[in-house]
Amino acid sequence: MSQKDGLRTYRGKRHFDRTGEPSGEHAAQEEAVPAASGEPLFVVQIHDATTMHFDFRLEVDGVLKSWSVPKGPSTDPHDKRLAIPTEDHPMAYRDFEGVIPRGEYGGGTVIVWDRGTYRPTSHDKRHRPVPFGEALENGHVTFELHGEKLRGQYALTRFHGREEKSGGSAQKPTWLLVRTGSGAPSGRGSGGGTPDPRRARSVRSGRTLRQVSEAPDAPAWEPDGGGQG
Ligand code: MN
Repeated sequence: MSQKDGLRTYRGKRHFDRTGEPSGEHAAQEEAVPAASGEPLFVVQIHDATTMHFDFRLEVDGVLKSWSVPKGPSTDPHDKRLAIPTEDHPMAYRDFEGVIPRGEYGGGTVIVWDRGTYRPTSHDKRHRPVPFGEALENGHVTFELHGEKLRGQYALTRFHGREEKSGGSAQKPTWLLVRTGSGAPSGRGSGGGTPDPRRARSVRSGRTLRQVSEAPDAPAWEPDGGGQG
């Protein structure tokens, strides 16, 4: 998505009187305190829509750049995961967990699977750092994730041509999400890969997709052990 598009595409797809997703129209209100580290944020949501997928989002210039990753990110460097760009999402979306009503865009259940910050590490051939937004435009970014689940170096790389501005029948660009760092994922032993999305738990509420779908309005995470869902 081009920067100028902003959140217009995002808003155009949704009815905010019917879905609990954030409109992003009150950015100042919705904006939480930035990460203490000052690093940009990332979030990975699991979305049980028409087709189950993971939504991988990176904070870039005040919005969440987003990719739909059908199989989810893998911690195994041998796995190349298809990542299809979707519209920019408002920053507030990083906390969204709940049920998008049937018939609405993206109808289905969403949980926050992982979250944290990332460190952009893109550089040019002379090892000079390249601004992340510019590297994205060029179709290749590298970054180090500091999530609660995902940690380490990853890369997103576009193939299949450039994204067109508007109109036309441009082929849809596709990206690959790959773990590039060497070594086993920290403390997780071997196995890497991706958890079964139906068994995976929210990093925000501790709940599974099913638990959220059965009680979407249940109070969020209670650290004192009240989280029976
Ligand atoms: Mn989605």
